[in-house]
Amino acid sequence: MIEDKNQQRTSIAQLGEFGLIDHLTKQFEIAQPSTLKGIGDDAAVLDFKNKKVVVSTDLLIEGIHFDLAYMPLKHLGYKAVSVNVSDICAMNAKPTQITVSIAVSNRFPLEALEELYAGIALAAKVYNVDVIGGDTTSSQKGLLISVTALGESDENEIVYRKGAGEKDLLVVSGDIGAAYMGLQVLEREKQVFLVNPNNQPDLDNYTYLIERQLKPEARVDVREILEKLEIKPTSMIDISDGLSSEIMHLCKQSKVGCNLYEDKLPLDPQLINVCEEFNIDSTTVAINGGEDYELLFTIKMDDYDKIKGNPNFTVIGHMTQESEGMHLVTRANTKIELKARGWNALTE
Ligand SMILES: [Mg+2]
Repeated sequence: MIEDKNQQRTSIAQLGEFGLIDHLTKQFEIAQPSTLKGIGDDAAVLDFKNKKVVVSTDLLIEGIHFDLAYMPLKHLGYKAVSVNVSDICAMNAKPTQITVSIAVSNRFPLEALEELYAGIALAAKVYNVDVIGGDTTSSQKGLLISVTALGESDENEIVYRKGAGEKDLLVVSGDIGAAYMGLQVLEREKQVFLVNPNNQPDLDNYTYLIERQLKPEARVDVREILEKLEIKPTSMIDISDGLSSEIMHLCKQSKVGCNLYEDKLPLDPQLINVCEEFNIDSTTVAINGGEDYELLFTIKMDDYDKIKGNPNFTVIGHMTQESEGMHLVTRANTKIELKARGWNALTE
């Protein structure tokens, strides 16, 4: 779909490993006060003073987590950073540094890696995190990217999955389901392209969904918004696998049940239209589709007035006694047990 036949191709081998690392990392600048030494020595040196440090890591593998047929490398770099920064946000911490390691086969020219690193650099700038290290090595087949993200927080500001109380309200940021439908659109266009490579896809009606899939944004703003509203969530998680399975994580770790209301789910109008076109139920997509990287959290009922009407958040349900179980309450007012049918790369 996105092939430029006149691309310049410089072999990675020409630069050697150290030359390659130098070339790719010279663009990174240090902005965080906690970074004493970034790239350029055997190890980075960090100083978090009296803050606690949160750490998260992810491994993305070509053919399992991404498909380069429709994933531009710049987007891939951006997304690899976003998904890790999102995990730091899910702890209610401030992201500060990342490391990036890649393994590439020699089918990738230098120009491809420059694209990938342009996406990484852009995300680092947007999220204000320092790139402080990593490794570059060769793989026999395909591309692997591993990102580790660090963040800082006061100890009493950190939010875990386990803190939800029985009457707490369940809240989600942004809207959900769009990233999953974006993937469905891209998969369909890929099949069309394989049959007829001259067919230029018209994706105008799908721009929001595709952007949500290819360029997800970590919600670094949520911590700041909640702080201003003087709300500290009682539990929190980010939506990577799907709303339903993330709710189940919060419930299990907090030992509570949950009622989720179908009519409260925040869906973008484009999602509703495209679900109709694909003949897929939008509620199913919203609760099982993953990769939106919105934040799901619980707040005390007393905080409802502070969050009510805020365009960043939607109250989608409430927690209950553990013995009541976890349910979706439909528009017809019937209760359906929640199941974790989310995105699972290992079983697909
Ligand atoms: Mg997570």
